[in-house]
Amino acid sequence: MKLYSTNNKNNISTFKEAVLKGIADDGGLFMPVELPKLPPSFFHDISKLTFKEISFIVANNLLKDDLPVEVISKIIDSTITFDAPLVKLNEQISTLELFHGPTLAFKDFGARFMSAVMSYLTKDEDKEIIILVATSGDTGSAVANGFLNVKGIKVVLLYPSGRVSKIQEQQLTTLDQNITALEVDGTFDDCQRLVKQAFADASLKKHAILSSANSINIARLIPQSFYYFNAYGRTENKKLPFYVSVPSGNFGDLTGGLFAYKMGLPVSKFIAAVNANDVFPKYLETSVYEAKSSVRTLSNAMDVGNPSNFARIIDLYNQSYQEIKNEIYSASFSDIDTIGAIKEVFSKYNYIIDPHGAVGYLALKKFLAEKNQKECNGVLLETAHPSKFADIVEKVLNKKIEIPDALQTCLVKRKKSIKISKEYEYLKNFVLSI
Ligand SMILES: *Cc1c(COP(=O)(O)O)cnc(C)c1O
Repeated sequence: MKLYSTNNKNNISTFKEAVLKGIADDGGLFMPVELPKLPPSFFHDISKLTFKEISFIVANNLLKDDLPVEVISKIIDSTITFDAPLVKLNEQISTLELFHGPTLAFKDFGARFMSAVMSYLTKDEDKEIIILVATSGDTGSAVANGFLNVKGIKVVLLYPSGRVSKIQEQQLTTLDQNITALEVDGTFDDCQRLVKQAFADASLKKHAILSSANSINIARLIPQSFYYFNAYGRTENKKLPFYVSVPSGNFGDLTGGLFAYKMGLPVSKFIAAVNANDVFPKYLETSVYEAKSSVRTLSNAMDVGNPSNFARIIDLYNQSYQEIKNEIYSASFSDIDTIGAIKEVFSKYNYIIDPHGAVGYLALKKFLAEKNQKECNGVLLETAHPSKFADIVEKVLNKKIEIPDALQTCLVKRKKSIKISKEYEYLKNFVLSI
C-alpha cells in the first residue's frame, strides 16, 4: 500500500513510513493511493467465513505488498481475539457489538492492530520506542492495552488530573509493566500541547524513537474496516439493502467503513450519527464545512467540533460534495433524545444500549422512517459497553447494570500514576529518564 498526503497527492510514502510518522511531514493525513476491490468469490462465501478469516483476507488485500503473509496472519491472530457479534433488535435493526475487547470499546480493534504492526515494523531498531499519548479518557486505555507487554516499546500516557471518569482513570493507571500514566495538573489541551512539544524536541529524538498513536494513524483505520464486512457476513438475507449507522466523533470509525465500501462491500447507505456536535450534518445540508468548538454531551467520546478525518472523507469522494451527499446520510441528536433512546431500546427490546450506540440507533431509525423502508438490514455500531457509562445508563434505566469481568478486575486494582505539572520540563525529564 502506497499512501499520499491529503495536503499533497504527489507526496507518496510507504506503509512503514506512514505508520511510524502518524501524520505526513506536510501536516496532511495519510491516504491509500488505492483500495483494491475484493473478488466476488469473497462476498459469495462471506457467510461461511469467521470474523478472523474475513479480517485476514481484508488485511492481506491491503497490505500484501508491505508485510509477509505469515506476518499478516500473526497480526490478525493477535488483534482479532474477540468477536464482533450482530445482535438483532427487530426485523430491520441489529446492533454490531464492538465492545468485547479489553477496554470494552471499538477503539481496541485499532489500538491492537496498530501495536502489532508497529512492533513488527520496528523489530530491528536498536533505539527504544516511546509512544506518547495525550488522552481525555478512552483512547489512552485502548492504546495502552494494545501495547501492554510489547517488547521494546514503552507507552507514556498523559491525562488531565480530575477530568476523566473514575472508570477511565482506573483503566489508565492500573496497567503497569511498560505503561506509565502521567497525571497532568492541567486540561486535556495542556496534555496535547506537552506531547506536541515533545515531538518537536531534538534532544528527545536522540534519546528514543518517539511515536504518537493517535486516531489519525492509518494503522488504526485499517482494522476498523474489518467488522463492517463481518456485519454483512452475518446478515441473513443479503439481497436486502444494507444500511450502517456509525456513532461519530472524529469520523475514524466511519472512514473505516468507507474503506470497506471502496473495497467492494455493498453498503446501500452510511449513516453518520452525531450528538449536538453537528458539523457534519450541517455540511451535508449547506455544503459549507464550518469547524466549531466542541460541546459536552452524554456521548462524550463523540464531542468533536472539528473531525480530523473529514479531510480523508472529502478525498475519498474526490472533493465532490454531491457524491458525499448521495452516499452518506447524517443526523444530530440532543442529550434528551439520547436518554429517550436508551429507555426505548430497553423497554422495546430488553437491550441495554450505551449513549453512543443510542445516537446511532436514533439516526438509523430516522433514516428508515424518512425512507419508509420496511425490509432491510439496518445495522448500528454499538461502540462501547454500557457499563463504561454506568453513571448515565443506570440513572436513565433506574437499574444496576452488570460490569464485565475485564472492567471489574481493573476497578479494584491500585491506581499508579505520576503527578506532573503542566510545565514542559517535567515531561522532558521524565522521558529522558526512561
Ligand atoms: C471514539 C468513540 C466514538 C467515535 O469514533 P470516531 O472514530 O472518533 O468517530 C464513538 N463511540 C465511542 C464509545 C468511542 O469511544
